[in-house]
Amino acid sequence: MRTRVRFAPSPTGPLHIGGVRTALYNYLFARQHGGDMILRIEDTDSRRFVPGAEDYINESLRWLGIGIDEGVREGGAYGPYKQSERRDIYRRYARQLLDDGKAYIAFDTPEELEAARAEKPNFQYDAHTRGSMRNSLTLPAEEVKRLIDSGAQYVVRFKIEPDVDVHVHDLIRGEVVINSNILDDKVLYKSADDLPTYHLANIVDDHLMEVSHVIRGEEWLPSAPLHVLLYRAFGWEDIMPQFVHLPLLLKPVGNGKLSKRDGDKLGFPVFPLEWHDPQSGEVSSGYREKGYLPEAVVNFLALLGWNPGDDSELMSMDDLIAKFSFDHCSKAGAKFDYKKGIWFNHEYLMRMDDMQLAELFMPVLRERLAEAGKSADDFGMDYIARAVGMVKGRIEFVQDLWAQGDFFFLAPSSYAEKDVKKRWQADTPAIMEELCGVLEGIDDMTSANAEKIVLDWIAAKGYHLGNVMNAFRLAVVGACRGPHMFDITELMPKTEVLARIRKAISRIDN
Ligand code: GLU
Repeated sequence: MRTRVRFAPSPTGPLHIGGVRTALYNYLFARQHGGDMILRIEDTDSRRFVPGAEDYINESLRWLGIGIDEGVREGGAYGPYKQSERRDIYRRYARQLLDDGKAYIAFDTPEELEAARAEKPNFQYDAHTRGSMRNSLTLPAEEVKRLIDSGAQYVVRFKIEPDVDVHVHDLIRGEVVINSNILDDKVLYKSADDLPTYHLANIVDDHLMEVSHVIRGEEWLPSAPLHVLLYRAFGWEDIMPQFVHLPLLLKPVGNGKLSKRDGDKLGFPVFPLEWHDPQSGEVSSGYREKGYLPEAVVNFLALLGWNPGDDSELMSMDDLIAKFSFDHCSKAGAKFDYKKGIWFNHEYLMRMDDMQLAELFMPVLRERLAEAGKSADDFGMDYIARAVGMVKGRIEFVQDLWAQGDFFFLAPSSYAEKDVKKRWQADTPAIMEELCGVLEGIDDMTSANAEKIVLDWIAAKGYHLGNVMNAFRLAVVGACRGPHMFDITELMPKTEVLARIRKAISRIDN
């Protein structure tokens, strides 16, 4: 049987990072088996539909490199891939269950249901209570017909047999037995909007789209046993997909499911891309806009609930495709260790080609230099790439390149007070003036050469090495920080280095 998986988000808001992990695992599994990855939009809950959510899903998957083979945009032989365009299909299958006596029509109004709940605190619409409710099992056939003809609203409910042990096979959880008594007669279809509910649409589509593995991130109760019963009711139990219920993503600290509030509190995004809520106008931060690399996010997410069975940590998409396996997925929830995500980002940035990194940095550089009344066009790409290469080991996000390497582009406008106090002494201006002369005399400013000449001069004069070098750094960088001094002066034009030292001599007064 061909491997066919689907990612089936509901466009009810921005795709959550947990949904991204579900999509990723589906993708890894599909690619590993040379199968198909379907993107199905489950938009049957018309009240919760949010404009822009579908585009957001597409853009998120594209950014992360999670490829889709069949879907609304991609097309495919099993379409339409949007559930709101499949009403006829669901109506037909709801009818089939009704005709076979596996489902029934219920007319109970919201008020009636509420009254039933008020009367019986743990009321559940099921084999024990359905006999006292208003449905096609209790009303005469003519009354049912009359109600429908008169336009009364109704739902179709799944008639769940009581006290049946339902065996669910799950590739992560193994075999689990659930008694049907915990399930209620789930609504499968609503006449009010002529739409199925999630359960019916999901099962019918998985069947019609020939899905081989249902890999989902949702809590597995009550869906898993319910879906097994639905497959059985349709007579599809022999061609049921394999179920895989992924471990939940848990809060970084404390207990419970990861929520948006955890992200707000601890300062990490829970969405792949920034999201502008169309209703409230609220903006939620995204991994992309925060400066994460998609490769790092993929690597980080892959390890939330799965491990490769060895101690590899840095894995490309291809590595993940090769290594992925449900045997190494955990049943227990995975703590959302967002700091590990930052670590991954640092590692990927550090390994990135300097020129590529410089290109990512360009928008930030342009903005910062424009703020200072300067232009990024004054610097060649080679210069920027080399500057970036020198400081990339110290960053977590692309934006940090500015804080680490600003001095490559702007002369200091002030000098770190603490460093001035410690390193700029009474004789420093004279020594710096002398240093300018030494530098002027060096033809070959490559790092090792300039270093040797300057250190020889300091030694010959008997100057204090630390004080001279730190004053030099203070003048060029503005503080005692940054990469190796002579690497900086190898890159920076000598005229600029000299100008900065002279400016410091005239400006610093300790
Ligand atoms: N539309 C469902 C959801 O987003 C899909 C769950 C599934 O994968 O079956 O929760």
